[in-house]
Amino acid sequence: MTSNRRTFAIISHPDAGKTTLTEKLLLQGGAIHLAGEVKARGQARRARSDWMKIEQQRGISVTSSVMTFEKDYDGETITFNLLDTPGHEDFSEDTYRTLTAVDSAIMVIDAAKGIEPQTRKLFEVCRLRSVPIITFVNKVDREGRPVFELLDEIADMLALDVSPQMYPVGMGGEFKGILDFASGEVVVPEGPSKEYRGKRVAGFDLPDEVEENAELAQIGYPEFDLEAYRNGDLTPVYFGSALKNFGVTELIDAIAKYAPPPRPQPAGEEQISPDRDEVTGFIFKVQANMDPNHRDRIAFMRQVSGTFKRGMKLTPSGLGKPIAVHSPILFFAQDREIADTAEAGDIIGIPNHGTLRVGDTLSEKNDVRFTGLPNFAPEILRRIVLKDPTKTKQLRKALDDLSEEGVIQVFYPEIGAQWIIGVVGQLQLDVLVSRLEAEYKVGANLEASPFATARWIKGDAAAVKKFEDFNRANLAKDRDGDIVFMAKSPWDVNYQAEQHPELTFSATKER
Ligand code: GDP
Repeated sequence: MTSNRRTFAIISHPDAGKTTLTEKLLLQGGAIHLAGEVKARGQARRARSDWMKIEQQRGISVTSSVMTFEKDYDGETITFNLLDTPGHEDFSEDTYRTLTAVDSAIMVIDAAKGIEPQTRKLFEVCRLRSVPIITFVNKVDREGRPVFELLDEIADMLALDVSPQMYPVGMGGEFKGILDFASGEVVVPEGPSKEYRGKRVAGFDLPDEVEENAELAQIGYPEFDLEAYRNGDLTPVYFGSALKNFGVTELIDAIAKYAPPPRPQPAGEEQISPDRDEVTGFIFKVQANMDPNHRDRIAFMRQVSGTFKRGMKLTPSGLGKPIAVHSPILFFAQDREIADTAEAGDIIGIPNHGTLRVGDTLSEKNDVRFTGLPNFAPEILRRIVLKDPTKTKQLRKALDDLSEEGVIQVFYPEIGAQWIIGVVGQLQLDVLVSRLEAEYKVGANLEASPFATARWIKGDAAAVKKFEDFNRANLAKDRDGDIVFMAKSPWDVNYQAEQHPELTFSATKER
């Protein structure tokens, strides 16, 4: 059976146009039930936690959300699940983990800027799991960089084959439309006041230069190859303007046509197929403390297999006994009756009181455990210092909770008593301090630590032990008790890795 689900995320650097594109994608389909509503309902109910104040002050969403929309293709309805990743320079592990729950991604690039730092970082996370990428070069209604320069930059910086599917006929003031290689038609802007609609014109009279370049673009770059794309080795490139709603139809159609349906997910040696009868899934994010008094949480489960029905009993791997999922949040099209079922590829929000944790597997028979949900090496490390030293126990409890939830990582050095907090984005630190106070009544400060990053050490037990004996001052244990090398610089990591070829210094850890 081929699934009609396409579960994907948009990756981009801030300001490239992700929000604008998201809106336009939702307009393309019959939207939708926004996960934002979950938040809105929570907000109306009570006073906001400090954590939410941070969200408001900064005008950003700390948490990711889920948007579902549908589009018909020759009688077949394709359901798109778009998982939003926080669009802010300060991204967090949430962003990374969301990418573990998708089957493909759209990479949005600003035509004037090319590959920017955060695009690249997020791309690397996709590459870890061979997530296929469709590239959308945005803002062609403005003056951008030359097309070949952009294509070469994507290929070189990301070490990825690029396969242009279109060629813009001019950019900025000269913009006339986009030549679609597959049909030979030019999609031209239409309607009043430059409201681009995208009428297709066959036999468009192309300027000579554009004709030549378009031909070069087709000869000079690899042809589209579905398998190479799905393996994450090749990206098809589309052009358009999210703001003018131009090229967006072509983009969503490409996802419908090429993006993979739900993929099998690794569970140890096994691969769990979406066709498996029983419901299985994994928690990739927990949105916690929507109500500080009740500690309620929504766990977001990516469904891997089976057909979920309201009220179904599922067993979380962390708990060992089944829970009945009576009031799941299903993110479905609103013009239908409230859907009562969900399929592989869908996301289900499960309200709970802290029983569900990031990385947990849920299954009907408690016979599956998904692997490959990674922890990422922190890029910011801070010492945590209590304002009131008698609260050590409370602090330890809070840090264990919050690291389980995936808000932060915590490292307990082998020597000394100062615990180290690790995050990938500054924002996580602000969230930590405010949640410690609001929820655990623990005041704490974060101070500079001598460490710049951390690596999980793996290898033969004797070799690890030997390394441990010599480097105790730079070692810590994470919350699972695994050994971590605390590095003072990236150079330090390289040096140790060279000195110890018998060990691996891993920037990610699978749970
Ligand atoms: P995000 O930070 O990636 O979510 O970016 P936004 O969607 O908020 O867009 C950032 C800015 O770029 C906003 O001012 C948008 O109006 C503008 N923008 C987005 N798409 C386009 C486009 O296609 N053309 C032009 N000219 N501006 C755009």
